[in-house]
Amino acid sequence: MHNIAIDGPAGAGKSTIARLAAEKLGFIYVDTGAMYRAMALYFIRKGIASGDEAAVQAACGDIDISIEYQDGEQMVILNGENVNAFIRTEQVSMATSDIARYPAVRAKLLDIQRNLAAVKDIIMDGRDIGTCVLPDAETKVYLTASADERARRRYKEQKERGIACDIEMLKQDIIKRDRQDMDRETSPLKQAEDAVLLDTSDLSIEDAVNAVINIYSSKKAAG
Ligand code: C5P
Repeated sequence: MHNIAIDGPAGAGKSTIARLAAEKLGFIYVDTGAMYRAMALYFIRKGIASGDEAAVQAACGDIDISIEYQDGEQMVILNGENVNAFIRTEQVSMATSDIARYPAVRAKLLDIQRNLAAVKDIIMDGRDIGTCVLPDAETKVYLTASADERARRRYKEQKERGIACDIEMLKQDIIKRDRQDMDRETSPLKQAEDAVLLDTSDLSIEDAVNAVINIYSSKKAAG
């Protein structure tokens, strides 16, 4: 079995690249950000403020998160409901970064993520996969790109989803979210010591996917 961990800041292309690389390699793609997003959606719907750690912690026991695949696409199931259509707004993005700081939230998702990786070849992306969730992953990649390029990509993605947005505001949101993700105490975003750094600012999607596959192939060959 072989696990590939991909971490990096918002909009670096992790999900697109990981999904395509998984397709080529015949691996299962696991998007952990979507699980955190589903939890944030639950708190928003219940009117629980993302800054209220005690209330968030108390509500964690009422949440059941799982994933399923439909036509190869990951669906996040929140208490029996497929919530994929509701988790990509900027409001959910910021609330997710807020609640992802809390140990109770992270503990809830850690086992689910580890159990998935224990039984299959997977490519998992997130913020703490190489450092915390799968420290023994055979291949680790830290994907990044300039803040301008990441804002451009996120803008294009949101437009394609029909979500109205302003590119400068997106850039500020991304910078704020990255800072919060990097500065938190529990499982901050950082490059694992044994991760390969891949800057995708000037790479096409295809080139970035091939770069990930090449890193995997060299790790595999090295045993
Ligand atoms: O990857 P995505 O942008 O969907 O992640 C949304 C948020 O979820 C991140 O900004 C981060 O706060 C949180 N997250 C995390 N750990 C992960 C994946 C996501 O803290 N493994």
